[in-house]
Amino acid sequence: MPLTSRVARHVCVALVTALACSAPLAAQAPAENLILVTLDGLRWQDVFRGMDPRMAHKDHGGVKDLFALDREFRRETPEEARAALMPFLWNVVAVEGQIFGDPEKGARATIANQHKFSYPGYSELLCGFADPRIDSNDKVVNPNRTVLEHLHARPEFRGRIAVFSGWDVHPYMVAAERSALFVQSAWDLPTVATSPERLAWLRASYEQLPRYWPSFCFDALTFPAAKEYLLARQPRVLYLALGETDEWGHGRRYDLYLQMMRRNDAMLRELWETAQSLERYRGKTALLITVDHGRGRNEKDWTDHGAKVEGAEEVWMAVLSPNVPALGVREKVETKLAQVAATAAQLLGVDYAALEPRAAAPLPGVVR
Ligand SMILES: [Zn+2]
Repeated sequence: MPLTSRVARHVCVALVTALACSAPLAAQAPAENLILVTLDGLRWQDVFRGMDPRMAHKDHGGVKDLFALDREFRRETPEEARAALMPFLWNVVAVEGQIFGDPEKGARATIANQHKFSYPGYSELLCGFADPRIDSNDKVVNPNRTVLEHLHARPEFRGRIAVFSGWDVHPYMVAAERSALFVQSAWDLPTVATSPERLAWLRASYEQLPRYWPSFCFDALTFPAAKEYLLARQPRVLYLALGETDEWGHGRRYDLYLQMMRRNDAMLRELWETAQSLERYRGKTALLITVDHGRGRNEKDWTDHGAKVEGAEEVWMAVLSPNVPALGVREKVETKLAQVAATAAQLLGVDYAALEPRAAAPLPGVVR
């Protein structure tokens, strides 16, 4: 073989090898669908370390049955304790996807707004930046467009984005009227289900349960309403805002707060497995999970959040998607809640910076 053709052959082999090696990367198409879930005020401490023994206490945590709580959630190591509370998050999402927000791993995640309560937090994560005008939980229409509203303006997402929230302020945060998004919140009766019988059952549940919180509905209702909608309408983007963790936190009921953590984790699993059972979602859906704020760090103030509560600025985020490399627990990377909006868009193959120049960049290393 003449030298030139040998070189040519080597080049050719190298090229083929390079193409073959890069093929799996290039084949990582954006996700077609996104499920975004927020868990109101769920502390990173409980998520990453499991039950905090200081709050597993009659007075500090309002725990009714200490023996039962210990049996359910106390474990030898933080790794075992957190998996006992959130098995889907730790055994699936944090293994096959990524999780941000562990300060002990140099991965502190914080909010960009100064307020450390809900509307500013949700607006920050949904819009991609903190706006000083958003300074209360009042029912004021968000002057800024959320990533959901931006996506909804595109023909491929029109009529295919739905928001389910337990809280009656969410319609204002996502500007339901202006954005024309499908929004169901708080105690409003569901209007969509897989059958008239399911819809009747769902609506009866809303009507029969006590309105324990007038402006906030149990996650046990918001979740099945969202799941029915997912099955019936198969939206490209579903945003589910659950919030009982915050309510039981304010109520100083650490036992019920931990129970809701575990139930929220089971809801995440059910939503994910339901999606994977449907052709439209299987292998082409992203799951993004985060919170609107943290809470206090000690046995006195863990119940609370707000500008004066130290530590309530700390948050966490987790993501699972076919186009997300399995980097697990992210280390040595500090992030902001504001990065969630651009990450949501990026998972779907949309460049959010082109739609919202004020937005923070996507979380680093989430999408290849
Ligand atoms: Zn709260």
